[in-house]
Amino acid sequence: MTAAVGWDTRLQVVLGGTAAWIGKHIGYTTVGQLLSHYPRTFVPREEASSVADLVVGEPVTVVGAVASVTVHPYQDRRTGRQAYRTEAAADLDGGRLWMTFFDTKRGVAEGRREKLEPGRRVLLSGKVERNRFKQGRLELTHPDFDVKAAERARSSLQPIYPVTGKLRSWTLENAVAVVLDVLTEVPALVPDELRSERGLLGARQALEWIHRPQDWQQYGAATKRLRFEEAFVAQVALAQRRHEQRGVGTTARTGRPGGAFDAFDELLPFTLTEGQRRVEEEVLADLAERHPMHRLLQGEVGSGKTVVALRAMLRVVDSGGQAALLAPTEVLAQQHHRSLTALLGDLAAGGMLGGAPEATRVALVTGSQSASARRTALLEAASGEAGIVIGTHALLEDKVQFADLGLVVVDEQHRFGVEQRAALSTRTEGSPPHVLVMTATPIPRTVAMTVFGDLETSSLAELPAGRGEIQTTVVPLAEQPAWLDRVWSRVREEVRAGRQVYVVCPRISGDDEADVAVEPDPEPSTVAGEGSEGRSSRRPAAVEELTPQLVAGPLAGLRVAPLHGRLAADTKDEVMRAFAAGDVDVLVSTTVIEVGVDVANATTMVVLDADRFGVSQLHQLRGRVGRGGHHGLCLLVTGAPLDSPARQRLEAVAATTDGFRLAELDLTMRREGDVLGSNQSGSRRTLRLLSVVRDADIIEEARAAAVDLVERDPGLASVPPLRSAVAALHESQRTDYLDKT
Ligand code: ADP
Ligand code: MG
Repeated sequence: MTAAVGWDTRLQVVLGGTAAWIGKHIGYTTVGQLLSHYPRTFVPREEASSVADLVVGEPVTVVGAVASVTVHPYQDRRTGRQAYRTEAAADLDGGRLWMTFFDTKRGVAEGRREKLEPGRRVLLSGKVERNRFKQGRLELTHPDFDVKAAERARSSLQPIYPVTGKLRSWTLENAVAVVLDVLTEVPALVPDELRSERGLLGARQALEWIHRPQDWQQYGAATKRLRFEEAFVAQVALAQRRHEQRGVGTTARTGRPGGAFDAFDELLPFTLTEGQRRVEEEVLADLAERHPMHRLLQGEVGSGKTVVALRAMLRVVDSGGQAALLAPTEVLAQQHHRSLTALLGDLAAGGMLGGAPEATRVALVTGSQSASARRTALLEAASGEAGIVIGTHALLEDKVQFADLGLVVVDEQHRFGVEQRAALSTRTEGSPPHVLVMTATPIPRTVAMTVFGDLETSSLAELPAGRGEIQTTVVPLAEQPAWLDRVWSRVREEVRAGRQVYVVCPRISGDDEADVAVEPDPEPSTVAGEGSEGRSSRRPAAVEELTPQLVAGPLAGLRVAPLHGRLAADTKDEVMRAFAAGDVDVLVSTTVIEVGVDVANATTMVVLDADRFGVSQLHQLRGRVGRGGHHGLCLLVTGAPLDSPARQRLEAVAATTDGFRLAELDLTMRREGDVLGSNQSGSRRTLRLLSVVRDADIIEEARAAAVDLVERDPGLASVPPLRSAVAALHESQRTDYLDKT
């Protein structure tokens, strides 16, 4: 019986025992998963891998020609028995790679020697070491190797697959070959007319050529097709979501004359910038529609997004609804609560004696507040007494109910996923709320189109007038260790001049294993992208260690306070209040202050071990200073050596305050991972072809085609394989969300 083998066929059916091995190491269980794991590179049959690809300490898979092999018998000192050391070498392009094997049985050593016949082509896999006793030559100890896979002329390009642990490239190569040979059905995700219009390969052909091309041209044609396909599926998913959103009805929130919105106008201590007015108009127009707003507001750090959001919230309150403001950290939620309450003055005294009739209340919900404070806040939210409810992730919990939630504002979106937005949107029984997402991390257009492609966007580039300049300087301790003293005297000078200072450390305490470069929820894409290049081996600065050292040493006599995510909520709030009130001179903190914290009198920021932070993070951090009329100063202290990538990154941050340029830079430096949502779960990381940096054109064209298709055929009935792929994508995003919470 020959059953059809398709995308969802279990690998076990096709591969038998190997399937378990593959499943164990890389988590794939279906044909589709395996075939979506593309080779990392190819080595032409007549050539060898380049020796330049070898990195000491890193695992490699390379192909080369055996140059020599010798077996040396010797006496094992420990056991006193006869043993055999086999030394072999392979010629790579530009140099030699050695192999050493140790055996106790002569037969095994001899068998290996026979296989490694000089001149034969061999695939090698192991960890690269440098042998200090043999002129520092590069070696693999007990590598796995395969001469058959290397010699079998399956293709004139030898594929090298990305692998983990004990899984070998040639195991995947063989498995893929078996699967491709029996595969009967390949889902055609790109509709035929689109395919021929764009001159793309058929699905089957593309798979064949991505895994075993005969030449680079075939490989090129395959990537062209698969890149487009990848972009297209993601864009169809987004187009569908937008389409569905347009179909949903909700309450229009148009406000009323003489309400809180108008009253607030009188209170505003400044005039709105052009940009703020324009964005506000866009938002208010959306709120007046009968289907929910889904808008992304990107604004440069310090451009004044909060006021715009507050005015939108008041508009909703005036319409009898409530607004929720979701902040990524407790510190930020508390600050929003303090500053919005202050800005609103009497308008936040709703229900109180002497409160104006148009007034409302502002409630705060966080994870670690006292039980009674939380109870009061939840009651005010549920009864509708609080027109504005501010909170952290705690707001996403089921217990939080609203009387009539009309607007959800998500501040600093980069910490929240698509599905978390969705979670709040479904929180009320009645009509779904309007959603405004705000971010100060400028998002390159292509990423906006892919990750946030279901949102309309507004941008706020200008800063309110009267802002000081921010000067950023790298303090290179590798060459100038004495400069650290000058940093601290500079801090003293600022404080003497009546200003305040932030000192930022990558860790909370000295015994933390990992950096807390992002608190409270690590953002792997930023942190992981840094790698270990050029960092100093010194232990990175930690808040709890550094604070007493500063107090006892260079900052003696100043009022210094620590702040980090592990402090109790009350303590955090107290410290921030004291700093905002000018009762603390120097705040030693982790990145809890990264986003949104707003203290105008703070003019200087010292970032210690700055090389541990990502580009966007540094830009965010630096945005904390230069907020009043005073000039800001940001000192990026680093032990990273001159010319290291880490150092170059810091110089780039110092060279520009243009958030958009830095975002592009950040993106090219990160591992791209899969921004398109075809995500990994567990060890299942699929290497994808599309690059949001390089493939802007493809993404744009895919988007146009997707919109076109969804308009004609919203249910994708005409392309069933696409319909299932898109459904799977929606589903994986839902489960990602569940994984994260
Ligand atoms: P961000 O966009 O980074 O969230 P904020 O909303 O925190 O910026 O605003 C930064 C500071 O600028 C706040 O203290 C805010 O009160 C002030 N601000 C906002 N708009 C204006 C304006 N039009 N003129 C002067 N100051 C403003
Ligand atoms: Mg903000």
